[in-house]
Amino acid sequence: MAIARPVRALGLAAVVMWCFFIWQLFQPTASPMGAVKTKLSSTESDPNLDPTGEPEGILTYASGEYAPGPAGTARINATLLALVRNEELDGMLQAMRDLERTWNKKFNYPWTFFNDVPFSDEFKKKTQAETKAECRYEVIPKEHWEVPSWINDDLFRESTQILKEKNVQYADKVSYHQMCRWNSGMFYKHPALANMQYYWRVEPKVHFFCDVDYDVFRYMQDNNKTYGFTINLYDSPESIPTLWPETHKFITEHPEYVHENNAMNWLTDKTRRPGHYEKANGYSTCHFWSNFEIADMSFWRSKAYEDYFNHLDRAGGFFYERWGDAPVHSIALGLFEDKNRIHWFRDIGYQHIPFFNCPNSPKCKGCVTGRFTDGEAWLNKEDCRPNWFKYVGMG
Ligand code: GDP
Ligand code: MN
Repeated sequence: MAIARPVRALGLAAVVMWCFFIWQLFQPTASPMGAVKTKLSSTESDPNLDPTGEPEGILTYASGEYAPGPAGTARINATLLALVRNEELDGMLQAMRDLERTWNKKFNYPWTFFNDVPFSDEFKKKTQAETKAECRYEVIPKEHWEVPSWINDDLFRESTQILKEKNVQYADKVSYHQMCRWNSGMFYKHPALANMQYYWRVEPKVHFFCDVDYDVFRYMQDNNKTYGFTINLYDSPESIPTLWPETHKFITEHPEYVHENNAMNWLTDKTRRPGHYEKANGYSTCHFWSNFEIADMSFWRSKAYEDYFNHLDRAGGFFYERWGDAPVHSIALGLFEDKNRIHWFRDIGYQHIPFFNCPNSPKCKGCVTGRFTDGEAWLNKEDCRPNWFKYVGMG
C-alpha cells in the first residue's frame, strides 16, 4: 500500500525527533572540568525535595517578650551582623527586608553593621528605617583591618600575579584579602561585640525565602549548637594550596585541640573530587559557605581557634594566597569542634548568587524547591552537601 509523501515525511521527522530525545537523555554530561559529576547521582536523593519542617529539639516561638527595646526580655545576647560598604546600601536594604519579613520582625534582634570607613548618614537612616530593632554602626579599628607588618609588599604583588594567572577571583584586590582575614579572625574581637555570644551573618543582596517562626539563636543555645550553615561548597583549590599543609603542621604541634568527635573524614574526602584534593594538598576544599553563618562566638574566642588563627596569620596565606574565611572556619570547626554541634539549617531558604538552599515547605515563597543554582549547569558540581550528609548526617 502506498503511503502519501507528506505522511512519510511526518513519520521520518517523528523518528528523527525520537532519536534526538533518546540521545539527549543518555549523552555523556558535557563539563568544562572533564569527568566530574554535575548533579547528585541517583543514589543521592536531595533532602531538599523531602518535606521540611522545623528542626527537632527545643524551640522558642515569638511572644510579647520579643518586643523591640527593653520589653524584649526573651532575647539572648545575639545580633544580626553585616560587614558592608556604604555603596552597597541598596543591596543591604533588600537583604534586610527579606530577613525582617521572614524572621526578625517577630524577634527584633539588633543589627550590627561594620565598615572599614564610617557609615554615611544616608546608610544609617535608610537601614534603621527597615527595622523596629536597634541598629548599631561600627567602624573597624585600624589594627584589625590593616595588612599585618610581616606581610612583604613585593612578595604579595608577585604572589597575587601568579594567583591571577590561575584565575583566582579577587586575587589582586588587597581589600578582599583584608576582608577574608577580618572575617576569619577579627570580627568577634570588636569591642561592640564584647557582650554578644551569637551572630547571624548577612551580606548585601542575599535572599531569604521561608518564614521561620522560632528564635534561631535560642535554638543554638538550647540545643547545644556551635555553628549553623545552609550551603556546603567546594572551594577553588588554587586559592588555598598551603592551607591544609599549614593546618597539618598546627595539629601536629597541638594534637590536644583536635576533638574526638571531629569531621576529619569530611575535610579529607578525596573520592568525590580527587583533583581538588590533590591541588589543595590533602583537603577536599569542602566548606560551609560563610556568607551565611549562625554561630556561637565562644568557638572563635577559644584558645584552640585563637592559636590556629595566629598560626595561619603568621604563615601569610591570607595575602600570599587567597585563603577565605569559609575554608578557615570550616577546617577549624571540622577539627576542633564536636561535629554534632554543627547544624544544617535546612529550613532557612537562602540565596547568595549563584547558589540556593530551597527546602520543600509551604513556608517558602520565591525559590524553586531543590534548586541548587540558577547559573550554568556545571555549577551543580560545586555542591558538596552530599559529603556532609555522608560523613556527618543532617542534624
Ligand atoms: P564574595 O561574596 O566572596 O563575592 O565577596 P563580597 O564582595 O560579597 O564580600 C563579602 C562581604 O564583605 C560583603 O558583605 C561585602 O559587603 C563585604 N566587604 C568586602 N570588602 C569590603 C571592604 O573593603 N569594606 C567593607 N566595608 N566591606 C567589604
Ligand atoms: Mn558576597
